[in-house]
Amino acid sequence: MAHFEELLDRYADVVVKIGVNIQEGQDLMITAPISAADFVRRVTKKAYLAGAKNVYFRWGDDDLTLTRYTYAPDESFKEFPQWEADGMTKLAEQGAAFMSFLVPSLDLLKDVDPERIAVQQKVAAKALETYRQYTMSDRVSWTVISVPSEKWAKKVFPNLAPEQAVEKLWEQIFFLTRADQEDPVAAWQKHQEALAEKVAYMNRKAYKKLHYKAPGTDLTIELPEGHAWVGGGGKNEKGIDFMANIPTEEIFTLPVKTGVNGTVSATKPLNYNGNLIENFSFTFKDGKIIDFKAEAGYETLKKLIEIDEGARYLGEVALVPHDSPVSQSGLLFYNALYDENASCHLAIGQAYPCFKDGASLTSEDLEKRGMNKSLVHVDFMVGSDQLDVDGITENGDVEPLLRGGLWVI
Ligand code: ZN
Ligand code: ZN
Repeated sequence: MAHFEELLDRYADVVVKIGVNIQEGQDLMITAPISAADFVRRVTKKAYLAGAKNVYFRWGDDDLTLTRYTYAPDESFKEFPQWEADGMTKLAEQGAAFMSFLVPSLDLLKDVDPERIAVQQKVAAKALETYRQYTMSDRVSWTVISVPSEKWAKKVFPNLAPEQAVEKLWEQIFFLTRADQEDPVAAWQKHQEALAEKVAYMNRKAYKKLHYKAPGTDLTIELPEGHAWVGGGGKNEKGIDFMANIPTEEIFTLPVKTGVNGTVSATKPLNYNGNLIENFSFTFKDGKIIDFKAEAGYETLKKLIEIDEGARYLGEVALVPHDSPVSQSGLLFYNALYDENASCHLAIGQAYPCFKDGASLTSEDLEKRGMNKSLVHVDFMVGSDQLDVDGITENGDVEPLLRGGLWVI
């Protein structure tokens, strides 16, 4: 095993060279919690060495967030600073790269009025809509990564002392992001090729529908005409490769907004805005959530699907085998970036424009093909060792894709 400092360096290489793949003269915006400052400093140095022009920062802090939600007046949650939204849009227009740290703030806002959170969430999403279009359509390079915080590590390893829990979580992160391999950049290139094979298979098949069956799940999802499966990295509008999530084990596409029918049960808790939703399920009719249940976090879930019309429909269909490295770790990370790579998942809300002729389609075309629009995009996990997924062809032939959560193609 390499020395800890060496592993941190390799991980920083992965996020700079594979994640955003920073180019000579390019700006980089890093959004991160203050708890990640040490690693952000390391990444910043790597980014300059790789040719970055300017590296900018948007810092967050759990304590300050909680202070605001506890003491700020109601009116403040109806606003989002326009200068911040304009700044993000401007950087995207100039072709900057964007790196976001997803470090879960577990139960941080559990005693806060969910209405305050919902109002702020909606206003922020609205203000950042133009910026988000740049990332969701892959016009700019962007990546989401994570580093341990003490609180998060304690949640994943509740029986360890804080220091050991953090150490253990780093170990997992190095393993899952391939930073523990001799040449992580080469390891990522190999991984990318394996995902590309699955993508090619699914695109050749161009299934009309997928059918999911598992305990508490019997769901049919229609796929739009000309849909494209994607995975293992994208290209920005200048043709530069980048990796939107590190790690990533998924291949995904979008559903027909009105083509989802049946019931699906989540197989992992969902951490949404610092609140945990557990043991939940949705029932769909013609794409719309017409019923839902949750043993914990019902109000949070209700607020989420009431944000706008699109939050009642699906925007992503992702397949991940149950033997993926994240899944093999046997851990529940309470962090979508990791948990979604252990499990087949779906997302409520905004879809990515995954079409073979995507770049030439207007937003009207996209809507006609069935792409969902929303201010939110929230992944939830449906995979398990009991999940079977079939592909249904145009002529109605049924072909097995996953059995017991594993690929059979
Ligand atoms: Zn996904
Ligand atoms: Zn997603």
